[in-house]
Amino acid sequence: MTIVHKFGGTSVGSAERFAAVADIISQHPDIGAGAVVVVSAMSRTTNQLLSGAWAAADGREEACRRITAELLQRHLSVVNELFEGDPEREELVEWVQSRLRELERLYSSIGVLGELTARGRDHVMAFGEQLSVKILAAALRQRGADAQPLLATELIVTDDHFESAVPMMPQTRARLQAHVLPLLAQGVVPVITGFIAATETGVTTTLGRGGSDYTAAIVGAGLDADEVWIWSDVNGILTADPNLVPGARTLRELSYIEAAELAYYGADVLHPKTIRPVIENGIPLRIKNSLDPTDAGTLIVETPKPNRTRLPAIISTTGLSLIAIGSLDDAWSLPGVARALQALSEAGIDVLMFSQSFSEHSLNLIVRRQEQSRCLKVLQAAFGEELQRGRYSLDARERAATVSVVGVPGWNERGTVSHAFAALGIQGTRVIAVAQAATETSVSFCIPEDQVAETVCFLHRDLGLDEGLDCRLHSLPVPAVEHVR
Ligand code: ASP
Ligand code: MG
Repeated sequence: MTIVHKFGGTSVGSAERFAAVADIISQHPDIGAGAVVVVSAMSRTTNQLLSGAWAAADGREEACRRITAELLQRHLSVVNELFEGDPEREELVEWVQSRLRELERLYSSIGVLGELTARGRDHVMAFGEQLSVKILAAALRQRGADAQPLLATELIVTDDHFESAVPMMPQTRARLQAHVLPLLAQGVVPVITGFIAATETGVTTTLGRGGSDYTAAIVGAGLDADEVWIWSDVNGILTADPNLVPGARTLRELSYIEAAELAYYGADVLHPKTIRPVIENGIPLRIKNSLDPTDAGTLIVETPKPNRTRLPAIISTTGLSLIAIGSLDDAWSLPGVARALQALSEAGIDVLMFSQSFSEHSLNLIVRRQEQSRCLKVLQAAFGEELQRGRYSLDARERAATVSVVGVPGWNERGTVSHAFAALGIQGTRVIAVAQAATETSVSFCIPEDQVAETVCFLHRDLGLDEGLDCRLHSLPVPAVEHVR
């Protein structure tokens, strides 16, 4: 049985976590009999590598040195802690040091050039996974498994869209079959770098941030795996963020379509692209918890069992900004809206939600907070003249968040959407903007960020989702409401 197991950055965030992951893999019944491992860089590593590269390009040498020193120290302390008294320790220490010297050389050439291309960024970001595969493979050998680290630059062939490269499946499949299958036949456990890949000519690319899930799905598809398991740090896909709602429940079985919808609304245990290669190949996908490995987690399949429990889920995203552009009089018009959205799209800024009000003469845009200042600059450039003449106004209004209720058809006879609207009214949440899916089973609200925790908790309880409650019973009387659009 071939199972691809993917572990993310937090699962290998410390020596202790590396050891826990190595225990999970080495105790798995399929170990040495078809288990394939895909691993991300240690948490924070990819961000640090990238900040180091920007610092190098800006000539901030001190910041650059601090980052390499911290990366070196963190990886070395993991190696020293895990391999104390182990014959492999010295070789691993030397190897980590040599990779970091190579990174330093790379940073200094970026410094000389004074510019950082997307190609350069991918080259830099690839260092994190190269370090973690080597450490995890050694930890598995320590536990008696015949593990071997593999670089996905040799296995996954992509186009040259740096930072979000697209895999070429026929070539990738051929390489995976040629390199990985013989290892599996010999009882070897391949430990493959997540996130990174290469073009046909061998130039390093990456699959997009958070792309290790995607790697696992590509590897699963290319090897005709029986299952792909994504190991996270929660018990699968839940009815709400367990940090906000301790009583959140696991959605035990989902269809591919339902999982894709949750991923689309921002359920961050799953990368939206991940789903595609597994759907195309009909491979079951499991989301498991590396902190609680015996929990069954979530199973995602083409056709779930007809008698499974079906529940809606609440997905919340914080760290957003509300930006408003419009006119003081009634000059604001539809072409203005089109112009704003076009300019932002050309600048590659994701608008997560927008609402347009002609009575207010403005367009409200929801963007990620880290893109706020770039968004304002792009709009300033696009509407420079109107802004200067005082015809239009532009400002970042407030910290915002989105809360989506992703329903399942037929779950509640009153409709998930109208139920959610009523609940928000009772809770007193101020709704800034609304977007509703045409299916009428899902709805997204933009609300002030400081109301997220109470709103999500209230919605969870009110929709009857708290553990132990019957899902069709409401905890509070909710007045009947017509569908609000
Ligand atoms: N290390 C990569 C990132 O931080 C890939 C991943 O974690 O999935 O984006
Ligand atoms: Mg992830």
